Amino acid sequence: MSKRTYGNEFGFQTRAVHTGNDVDSETGAIKRPITMANSYELPYDPSDLNWSSAGKNLYTRNGGSNQQYLQEKLASLEGGEDCIVLASGVAALSGLFFALLESGDHVIFSSVTYIAVYRLLNELLKNKFHVETTIVDTSDLDAVRAAVRPNTKLIHIETPGNPTLTISDIRAIAEIAHQNGALLSVDNTFASPYNQRPIELGADFTVESLTKYINGHGDAMGGAIIGKKEYLDVIRAQSQINLGGTISPFNAWLIMRGSVTLPLRMRQHNDNALKVARYLQTVKGVSFVAYPGLESHKGHAVAAAQMNNGFGGVLSFGLKADHDTHNRFVSHLRVITSAVSLGHDESLIVFLGENDERQYLYPEEFHNGFFRFSVGIEDIEDIIEDLRQAFDKEGLL
Ligand SMILES: *Cc1c(COP(=O)(O)O)cnc(C)c1O
Repeated sequence: MSKRTYGNEFGFQTRAVHTGNDVDSETGAIKRPITMANSYELPYDPSDLNWSSAGKNLYTRNGGSNQQYLQEKLASLEGGEDCIVLASGVAALSGLFFALLESGDHVIFSSVTYIAVYRLLNELLKNKFHVETTIVDTSDLDAVRAAVRPNTKLIHIETPGNPTLTISDIRAIAEIAHQNGALLSVDNTFASPYNQRPIELGADFTVESLTKYINGHGDAMGGAIIGKKEYLDVIRAQSQINLGGTISPFNAWLIMRGSVTLPLRMRQHNDNALKVARYLQTVKGVSFVAYPGLESHKGHAVAAAQMNNGFGGVLSFGLKADHDTHNRFVSHLRVITSAVSLGHDESLIVFLGENDERQYLYPEEFHNGFFRFSVGIEDIEDIIEDLRQAFDKEGLL
């Protein structure tokens, strides 16, 4: 039974189905098994093994087979040379930052990012390890250029950004980074590789939470870093093995399974979210809708140029209403669930109130509390009807 490989001569959907899978050589099963072992038999003389080497068949913190199958698939889907899969999106982000940055280095990051990026870069690495940070609205290229210093090592952006859906121009920022000897990492969680592939646009690293679209079923956590092998070897040795954020083989297997339908799910997420965004624009009690698929969105042109297949399933919107009305509105919903996370099969909504610690970094319209809505793959009629009846109950139609 030969090892099957699926290179770029195959389409995205074919690779989502096949890459990383193979016939199991022991049983002939057409799906590779889950290997729930944390240690492997040593060779006759183990004395000259490198206990800190990455790879399978030593110790699962150094790498296991299910992790490697998933890495193979994600490197292919993101168009990168190599991939490291870790226990969560945050493990991937911290793994990247801790391996790349040293005290005295400068990092620029976008004003809208996942909260842990803000805490890692602007609090932990800055205060404990003297990494210099500048927070920039990276939708403004002049602001990015102006923030570069001689010691800038890394620019980290998130596009679309969580939770305001701000769009940054990956290709242009990659150029700015490279002209100044810096690297660019892009959090691709909101788009997923079906809609956007930062490495193909010039980024050095894609980082993402697999917990969201790639797994897609809301039942496992994981994170990935995709990029050049020369950097990933270092990240693997320093962050996977020594920081220890290893993914469980079972979770890697679940994510591998979920990722098979990524293109199918994304098509439905893209479609449903655009329809919901257009519907919300017609509701009197809605104060604003932020979705890059809307022509009225500030970043629409850039998003349309760098997102190949659609604009993702997440949008944010506000109500012309007080704090309590927001909570009552959510309590009326029956199809849409009130919960954090996003990119699940089911629709999830979260009320982000007025007290967010990063409020000052958000555009004005986000200051009075707003909803982040991850539009699921349910029937669009049911999602819109669920919203409609909740608006109606609060007199917002
Ligand atoms: C959720 C999320 C993360 C963190 O991922 P976890 O798997 O929850 O650790 C990082 N970036 C973005 C944009 C996210 O939405």
